[in-house]
Amino acid sequence: MQPISSKLAGQTAIVTGASSGIGKACAIGMGLAGANVVVNYAGNSQGAEEAVAIIQEAGGQAIAYKVDVSKQDQVKAMFKMAIETFGTVDILVNNAGLQKDAPFIDMSLEDWQFVLDVNLTGQFLCAQEAVREFNRRGMRPEVSRSLGKIICMSSVHELIPWAGHVNYAASKGGVMLLMRSLAQELGPMKIRVNSVAPGAIKTPINRMAWETPEAEERLLKLIPYKRVGETSDISNVCCWLASDESDYIHGATLFVDGGMTLYPGFEDNG
Ligand code: NAD
Repeated sequence: MQPISSKLAGQTAIVTGASSGIGKACAIGMGLAGANVVVNYAGNSQGAEEAVAIIQEAGGQAIAYKVDVSKQDQVKAMFKMAIETFGTVDILVNNAGLQKDAPFIDMSLEDWQFVLDVNLTGQFLCAQEAVREFNRRGMRPEVSRSLGKIICMSSVHELIPWAGHVNYAASKGGVMLLMRSLAQELGPMKIRVNSVAPGAIKTPINRMAWETPEAEERLLKLIPYKRVGETSDISNVCCWLASDESDYIHGATLFVDGGMTLYPGFEDNG
């Protein structure tokens, strides 16, 4: 069992889409860093309960809560529950996301809308509730130098176009300017807003891209650092971004991608 550290002590984090993959690792990481954690999930209660159990066994506090982040009434209910349970919310990790891939010519309006609703509107709805709570509660200098922290889970595809995934790429491009515009607007209130843009991280969302040796070999051609990422690569960065150690980082996208955004196709002269 890992001991609880004090990096995020006295703070409460909501991590969306935290029953698997990156979100689960972030929830556990923040819990072990001393934060109270709301482990949001959409369908997989078992994964969310596992994260809660790991945090509680280490002596921390966590609660699993089912919410579809694209539904405003449900998002409001999650924040209400978090405030009633833990007193306030200090950190939001806007992580929930999904893919519904299809060639552009075949993509249905439903699949376009569904991905935008979860990946982009979901981040808008959660961020708005978080900002309202940060403002209601006011500064607590004993726990953090900022009024609150919002971390948006983006992707290298906020930058790299992605054929066959236009709904996903458009949603992450939207997250980029949602984050930057929020950072511009909310900075004067001392609310820190940043994005983390993962490259290829081993999770259920991209299992096909890494689960066989052949697939992994193809994937590694896109990664100059020649390693597929682990969820801890992202959760470590998120915990740091949520802490005062990164207090002067604001409005930034941190690419955590082993160099995927370095145009590796040009390595041998293009
Ligand atoms: P994942 O499928 O394991 O996790 C996504 C989570 O979001 C799941 O737990 C899912 O239940 C949840 N979710 C989906 N719809 C939801 C909704 N309406 N409300 C609440 N939760 C919902 O995949 P992951 O790789 O851990 O993805 C997490 C985030 O990281 C996503 O935003 C994804 O776009 C981003 N990302 C992942 C990678 C990667 O390589 N794995 C790369 C770039 C970006």
